Amino acid sequence: MTKPNFAELGLATELLDALRQENYETPTPIQSQAIPPLLEGRDLLGVAQTGTGKTAAFVLPILQRLSDQPTKAISRRPQALILAPTRELAIQIGEAVVAYGQNLHLRHAVIFGGVGQGPQIQKSVRGVHILVATPGRLLDLVRNGHIYLDKLETLVLDEADRMLDMGFIHDIRKIMTLLPEKRQSVLLSATMPRDIERLARNLLSDPLKVAISPKAVTVERIEQYVYFPNNADKFSQMLAVLEDPDLSRVIVFTRTKHRANRVAEFLAKNDIAAEAIHGNKSQGARQKALKNFREGETRILVATDIAARGIDIDDISHVINFEIPNEPANYVHRIGRTARAGSDGVAISFCSPDERPYLRDIEHLIKRSLIDAEHRPFMANIPKKPKTGQRSKGQPSGKSKRGPGKRRGSAASGGGKSFDPIKSRARPGRRRRQAVAA
Ligand code: AMP
Repeated sequence: MTKPNFAELGLATELLDALRQENYETPTPIQSQAIPPLLEGRDLLGVAQTGTGKTAAFVLPILQRLSDQPTKAISRRPQALILAPTRELAIQIGEAVVAYGQNLHLRHAVIFGGVGQGPQIQKSVRGVHILVATPGRLLDLVRNGHIYLDKLETLVLDEADRMLDMGFIHDIRKIMTLLPEKRQSVLLSATMPRDIERLARNLLSDPLKVAISPKAVTVERIEQYVYFPNNADKFSQMLAVLEDPDLSRVIVFTRTKHRANRVAEFLAKNDIAAEAIHGNKSQGARQKALKNFREGETRILVATDIAARGIDIDDISHVINFEIPNEPANYVHRIGRTARAGSDGVAISFCSPDERPYLRDIEHLIKRSLIDAEHRPFMANIPKKPKTGQRSKGQPSGKSKRGPGKRRGSAASGGGKSFDPIKSRARPGRRRRQAVAA
């Protein structure tokens, strides 16, 4: 059987050219399944997480349908609205609109809270075809008469479960009362709890259902290792793992903002370029940290689950779970970052004794056991148990000097993202160093 291609999905030449420009060769499963019915105007209920190519699956049909019936953008009245839970996700969707729509003459704006309204209002008054928005700021502008939704033809609710988690349900219900009856609606969610099902029933009409199983991402493509240190040993164990330069672009996950800060500070003290992103950081600080990470200035991004969801960064070599998530679905979201749109990845978890129940839930969800790194070592020279005598209780100690991580295994060096335990074990000269306390 030949591979599916974008032209077969019915996309226009301008979009095919843009996809070539982006180096997309074949559609991902959600793109193959969702694009043809969306082009025909059907509603869609998609269960898919970040990394599946879901953004292109809904942005491409919106662009095509708008360019098929070229109308001038109407002042204050967008024709397509894409709602996203966070500003980061909204910005990324805006970037996708620009990239895929580069050969079309459609106008768009991205609006979100935490910044001045002036420029956003100006854009809306001039008129945009496509509006990407977070719910709160959208409603502010609607209330003040800067945006009307009565000419809307397509609505997309992206990461609907996250929106509900973040308390946007009332805003979304309010927005739903403002929409015209006749419209196309799309709801995407990584999970499908009961309240999302209820929302979908109210929003969608005879939707096509597409489910892209996270299992395909976690089970088949990602090598998943686990270490079992005590809480006190996690810091030094993480440093030992980071000795491997193959860990070139790493997201370290924690459950709390406080712990994210501690981990980032600890790494920085040990001369590893790291920055934390979480909800307590200002918009500017988060954008700066993401930019530094994207550009390879920082090797490690330390993130909480909420801060990381929806962030689109390619070429993540490894995900480290410094703390095991207490929501098993979050494990899938976390490690999905290292295997984006079909490439391989490696996830390394540190599971302390009190986190064992969380690990059991995760293994139950993904229907497989993580590889015990001490028995099938991820790196052979990591001591089975870090020597606790070398540090004060609860903290590693000592001094270490290391340079920032060399970018290896990324597209820039021509390497892939797959992890080779044999190669990794055989590499000489790797020594465990002592850590500077956080
Ligand atoms: P998303 O799930 O929309 O967040 O997309 C994840 C990543 O996959 C983004 O970096 C996209 O640029 C990339 N991507 C989406 N579709 C494709 C495709 N068909 N081929 C290659 N990369 C893709």
